[in-house]
Amino acid sequence: MVSTETYPHRFVSLRTLSDKRYHILNDGDRQVLEEADAYKVIEEFYPGAVFLHQGDSYLVTDNDHEQQVVHAVPTTQNYYTDAIIRSDVVVQNERGHRDYGDVGLSFGKVVVSEQTVGFIKKSFHIETEVGREYIDTPEISYETMALWITVPDAMLDRLTEGGYDIAGSLHAAEHLLIALMPIVVLCDQRDLGGISTILHRDTLKPSIFVYDGHIGGVGLTESAYGRFRDVVSLALDRVTECPCKDGCPSCVYSPKCGNNNKPLDKNGARVLLGLLLDRLDTTTGGGA
Ligand SMILES: [Zn+2]
Ligand SMILES: [Zn+2]
Repeated sequence: MVSTETYPHRFVSLRTLSDKRYHILNDGDRQVLEEADAYKVIEEFYPGAVFLHQGDSYLVTDNDHEQQVVHAVPTTQNYYTDAIIRSDVVVQNERGHRDYGDVGLSFGKVVVSEQTVGFIKKSFHIETEVGREYIDTPEISYETMALWITVPDAMLDRLTEGGYDIAGSLHAAEHLLIALMPIVVLCDQRDLGGISTILHRDTLKPSIFVYDGHIGGVGLTESAYGRFRDVVSLALDRVTECPCKDGCPSCVYSPKCGNNNKPLDKNGARVLLGLLLDRLDTTTGGGA
């Protein structure tokens, strides 16, 4: 049974919740299985989630955000769950901007919000979807730093002409940038998040955002902003050299994707990154 109640606080601030410790409680024997912060509770211990603890499967039956308790029961379900997370980025303050011809590269302060809106049940044995459910959970949001690029119409036209999926190309390019950025700025891929969209309300253009996954930011995207050409170059190498046909975990698939790795167009991302690298190499990058 999955709780679909509406929580009184639709909007939970990570700033106030991140230091709180939730207890993941086995309602079967009243033992605490583990502790987690609010962010992990929303991403992994949502009502309906099936998770493994020391080799045993548990099903989350309820989240009590007032008492900070996640209720779970042992289960023999032969599936696990992957969260469907809706992410949004709002630009607060653009602090740096460079134009590489018709490609814009920016850096600045953003507000990231994320909400688990559902989950996909996947069979342990064949890793295929066996069902999905939609749930209502609080949204968390936090201020952090991000870099973002805007992709010009001319590049979208090139993708369309080549028969590539535009949203899938942007999304796959976003995953590649997140995967390779840690090599340039020395961090873990889990320290970064991103979104891609064919129209962003602040940039009014197709955009790819990569944001620092820490409240306030810890300088990761700022240093990547200064070395963005290297990031794009590494991303292009990765996707070009991967021998798979349509994408795999070594190139465009991300274990952290909130959208179940859909849509992804590996070959479209290769074309897009090639066009972007060409712009970065042939234009000067004017701007502040
Ligand atoms: Zn691959
Ligand atoms: Zn994704």
